[in-house]
This record gives sequence, structure tokens and C-alpha cells, in this order.
Amino acid sequence: MATTRSTCPYCGVGCGVLIDTDGAHITGVRGDPEHPANHGRLCTKGSTLHLTATPAVLQQARLLQPRWRAGRQGPGTPLAWDAALDQAATRLADIAQAHGPDALGFYVSGQLLTEDYYVFNKLAKGLLGTNNIDTNSRLCMSSAVAGYKATLGADAPPACYEDVDHADCLFIAGSNTAWAHPVLYRRIEQARAARPGQRMVVVDPRRTDTAEQADLHLAIQPGTDVMLFNGMLHLMLWEGWTDNAYIAAHTTGFDALKARVRDCTPAEVARVCGIAEADLLTATRWFAGRDADGQPTGGRTLSLYCQGLNQSSSGTDKNAALINLHLATGQIGRPGAGPFSLTGQPNAMGGREVGGLANLLSAHRDLANPDHRAEVAAFWGVPSVPATPGKTAVELFEAAADGAVRALWIACTNPAQSMPDQATVRRALERAEFVVVQEAFGTTATARYADLLLPATTWAEKTGTVTNSERRISRVRPALPAPGEARHDWVIATQLAQRLEARLRPGLPTLFPYDTANADAGAEAIWNEHRETTRGRDLDITGLSWATLDRHGPQQWPCPEPTSPAPAGQPVVGAARLYTDGVFPTSDGRARFAAVAWRPVAEPRSARYPFSLTTGRLRDQWHGMSRTGTLGRLFAHVPEPCVQVHPQDLERRRLHDGQLVQVRSARGSVVLPVQASTSVAPTQAFIAMHWGSEYLGGRSADGQPLAGVNALTPPAFCPGSKQPELKHTAVRIDPV
Ligand code: SF4
Repeated sequence: MATTRSTCPYCGVGCGVLIDTDGAHITGVRGDPEHPANHGRLCTKGSTLHLTATPAVLQQARLLQPRWRAGRQGPGTPLAWDAALDQAATRLADIAQAHGPDALGFYVSGQLLTEDYYVFNKLAKGLLGTNNIDTNSRLCMSSAVAGYKATLGADAPPACYEDVDHADCLFIAGSNTAWAHPVLYRRIEQARAARPGQRMVVVDPRRTDTAEQADLHLAIQPGTDVMLFNGMLHLMLWEGWTDNAYIAAHTTGFDALKARVRDCTPAEVARVCGIAEADLLTATRWFAGRDADGQPTGGRTLSLYCQGLNQSSSGTDKNAALINLHLATGQIGRPGAGPFSLTGQPNAMGGREVGGLANLLSAHRDLANPDHRAEVAAFWGVPSVPATPGKTAVELFEAAADGAVRALWIACTNPAQSMPDQATVRRALERAEFVVVQEAFGTTATARYADLLLPATTWAEKTGTVTNSERRISRVRPALPAPGEARHDWVIATQLAQRLEARLRPGLPTLFPYDTANADAGAEAIWNEHRETTRGRDLDITGLSWATLDRHGPQQWPCPEPTSPAPAGQPVVGAARLYTDGVFPTSDGRARFAAVAWRPVAEPRSARYPFSLTTGRLRDQWHGMSRTGTLGRLFAHVPEPCVQVHPQDLERRRLHDGQLVQVRSARGSVVLPVQASTSVAPTQAFIAMHWGSEYLGGRSADGQPLAGVNALTPPAFCPGSKQPELKHTAVRIDPV
């Protein structure tokens, strides 16, 4: 019997877990009482992790050896690792030589560990000379990144979980926290029980479980968040509820924003957002920390927000408009106050830290900045990092569908289900000359398009680090050896890179000197290299070694190297909150108001497509279900897909509860049962995002089979963040 301390692989809460093993198998998983993110709690997904790692799951779902799929048919034939990597390196090098490095594309994942992410980025941007490496975090957090950078100057959530306990108003926008971040929500429930005066406002078109428990639910029309936030600022200005001293001392750009919100009158906000003016006033008053007479209470406001803001064609503006409210009221940089973006995936933050997006470089450097490119090139020991912007997720698959990107290397993600506009993704995967899928699970929709399948390790087998929503870095540790022939993601990337080096820079010392035979030593060497790139940056973690993390537990960044040695035994402590001194990481130290204007959704309802379809998570499922779908008990909460529609709409369309309907958008269709639900407003509909082709077969407009709800969703994306509008599609609903 042994116990291993590690981290849950699901959501961005980043709960600590204790994994019990009998030497050969995992016998149980418990919440780690010493982890600051969860203090021993786990949700249904975390507490059943051990049941997704049984021998039966291993046999049925895991990919256990490299397989070559001639003609992309069937499961393929087993291949030795050396042959598989030789073949892969040859194909990539040949394509790059014939068509240039930008004919290659890498699509990785916010579920990779920081060390995996680092090596993949160095491989693409440093060795191969292409910035065509993006990640499913583009679908998750890129609007939060762009929103923070546009206003606060850096991609750094300024708050922490403890702020939930200190806030007087929790302003939750575009997040069903109760289902998507359950352990954080338990903390919210606890805080509300301890402090009955704490207010909770929920902004969400749906009456979710979170909205159900709010003091005030603003059921806005989908995509009208910017109008709501600008309207709140209009009211704050009208009532004199802004913090003018804070604005004068710590910000710029307020006059332009004031002009922008001048027309966002309560009547106009009520019309566009579909809410009552009285509710708008109440929400504004609570946010600004005012009593019923408008007098200041000293109340602190913490915003919690997620995909409802991010997955939008105006995602950056939605983030910025909400941050504007915090700056205008001085609700930032103190306990219980701040704009706190909740991370969807377990390591979307770590990926951002190593520059794991097509427009970023290591340690929050910008690809567009020549000085940053030169710094990273010098650090990696390469002549340069290419200046040409990399293709972001939607652009990458569109380029593959057009033939410009000819090879796709996909690691730890399932774009054939999770990307929007599945018809284009299918064309991309079919047209690409060479598709490699590096995965733990062989059952994903994307695996069917692979020429080469490479088995990767996963939770309970890997070693490395992840960063959660509150900038807290935790160790991930292995409790079991890798099954079959599976290898760690960074090992696969390193061994591929070393083969490519033989073609691209023969005779030179390797840029990837990581010990692939010793996972702990190799991964720690990568961590140390990444750590050094952060020196002097906003996320400086030069004070954090793996030994420190092992000794003192998970830590928040920044955590720079101490200028003088800490007293013996004293823990290293990162920063719980940022901007406590009112100084921001901009050229003049001031935060910037963003004068953003509301724009409607990319695809508004119309006579032909009269419903607004929104998508979202279920409580007990994760992403495309490759892991949670292996466990029957996680289907008890919601056993099958359905489209939720308001009872009035069912009656109007002469449909009945449980009837099979076709939901159709301009790009494709799905057939599934309709469910009457008052959680959606009239003219709106909802389908959960998790169901793949085994449960929810889709069709493209020309009849090709597609997987899940993203047969319907549009490729439109936010111009600032390039994050697609997975949250909204105009559809029609007809009986079949
Ligand atoms: Fe895992 Fe998130 Fe549940 Fe915590 S809240 S146990 S990180 S899924």
C-alpha cells in the first residue's frame, strides 16, 4: 500500500489528490487535506478518478502501443517506437523541406503538463521554425488572456480562491460554477453560510444550478454581456458610484470609456439584454458597494467568469468590459475584490506561462515583439524565432482544409469533436497528408483520422507541474508505471526533436538534452529551463524549484528568487494577490480602460433559424468523455443527450417532451430528444458539449457524418483573441 500526492486532471480548480495504490493498481483517490485549492474536498469527477484507471478501462480505452494505420483504416498495425518516430520525423522533415515549415501544424492541449507544453513549443518555434502551434486552450482561455493584457497589462488573474471568503458581492458571469468548478462552488456555499450578508449575482442566459441559488439572476440575452457591463458603468457614473481617486491615481483612458457608455442607458440595456431596469440598478449598486440609499458600504466585489465570456466573437471585449467595472470602482488588489477568470482546463495557465499559443512565447512574451523573439532565440540557442504569426486553432484547421497546412500533429486533445464547424475540421483531417495523434485514449473521434497513433501516458502516470486558476503551481506525480508502451508527452516530443535535429542541424549539440530514460530527472530539467525563462518577468518563478514545491507544497506565482536567504524552515510564499500597490505591468504603471462597444453575436436568430442555441458543461462529464465516459456511474446525473427547450416553444411547435427532433444550423444538424426545461428562456435552446458520435451523431450540410454538437457551431471567432464562438449558434428545431 502506497499513497502518492498529485493533482486532479480535470478542471482548473486544480484540486490536490492522494492516490492510494496496492503496488499494481490504484485502490482509491482522496482529496488532499493539505492542498490549498480544495482542503481535502473532491467533486464527483475527482473522487471517481481511480475507477477510470482500472485494468478494464486500460484494455478497452487506452492506446498501448504505436500503430501505423495504412490508408487510415481500422486500428492499424503495431509499430516499434523507433520505427514510428523515425517515420514521423522523416515525414515532417520532407514536408517542411518541400513546402516550408509553415506547412506543419501542431495542435496540443491545456491538459498537457507544463513540461510537455514547453518542449512542444521549443520543437515547433525553436527547431522547426514555425509558429503553427496552438492549443485547445484557444477554445478555453484566450479571451481571458487578451482581456487581462488589454486592461491590466499582463495575463495574470489578480485574485485567489481565498477572496471568495472576503467578498461582499460575488458577481458570477458566464459560469455555471456549481457544475463546472464544483469544489470552488462548495467554498462559495461555505462563505455564504458563514456570511449571510454576502450577495451573489449571476449573469447567464440560462437558469443554471448556480443561477438558481443567486440573490439576483440577470438572464441576459446571449452575447449581450458588454451592453450589460457598459450599462452598469453608465449607472455608476450617473449615480456617482465610481472611485474617482483610484481612477485618477492608477488608470488611463477613462474619458474615452465614459463617452462610449453614454448611450448605454438603463432603458437601452433593458431592451438589448432583456432584463428589468430595477435588476440592473440592484446589480450595479451591489457591485459598486452601495447600500439602498446609494451610500458606500466598503463592500468588496469579486467577479468570477468563464466560458460564457470567453467563447464569444467578442470575448476580449466582454472580459475587458467587466475589468473596466473593477477599475472604475477600485475593486481590485485587495482581499475579496478583483476580476477572477476561472480556468477551464487543468493546465491552461501553465500552457500560457510557457508561451503555448500561436501568438505567445515563453514566460508571457509576445511573438509580435522583436525583442521578445530575440530573447527567446538566445535562450534556446537558435538563430531566431520566426516572426510570421502562427495559425490559431480555427485558422490552423481551415488552412489544413485548404491544403496550406499538410501535416498535423495532435496531442492530448480531440478536435474532431471539440472544434467548432466540424465539417471544416473533418475536411482538414481528411486532406492533411500526414496526421499524428498522440493520445492516452484510442477511442477519440480524432484517432480515426490518424496515420500514426502514438500512445501517451496520462494522470497517475506522469510527472511534472500544472498551474490552476489562482496561479498556483502544483506537482503532478506518478502512482503507477506507464501502461503498455505509453511514453510521456515530453519524452515523445523530445525524441521526435532529436531525430529532426539530425536532419536540420547535423553535428550540433542537441537543443533537447533532457534525460528521456529518467522521467523525473528529464522533466525537472525542463522545469528548470522554463523557470529560468521567467527571470524578471511578471510570472517570475525563479524561487520555485521542484524541491521547494515538494517541501512546502503548491505555490502561487510570482515567486522570484529571494534576494536574501529565507530563514531555515520558513516556507517560500508566492503572491496571493496582484496589484495590491495599484501599480500595473504597463509602460506607465497604470491600468488601461478599454472603450469597448457591444456587438451582437456572430449569427443572430433569424426567421430561418429562430432559436439561440447555447452549449455548456454537465456536472459529471469532462470534455469529449474519453475518460469520464468509461465510467457508468457518471451517467447517472444526465444519462443521454437532449436539447432543452422552453415549454412554451414546445407547445408553439407542437412538440412533446422526449420527442426526437432535428436541430439544424447553417452548417449541420444533429438528431436527439427534446426536453422541456424552464432553465432556458423562450427562443433559446441548450445542448451539453460532451456527447460525441457514440451518443450524438451529427451530419454536415452535405450529409457527411460528424461528431456531437459542434456539427452546428460556427467558425466565427473574436478578432482580439481568436477564440471561437462555441457558445452561440442560431438553429431551427423540427420534428423528425
Ligand atoms: Fe477535479 Fe475540478 Fe472536481 Fe477539483 S473541482 S476534483 S479539480 S474536477
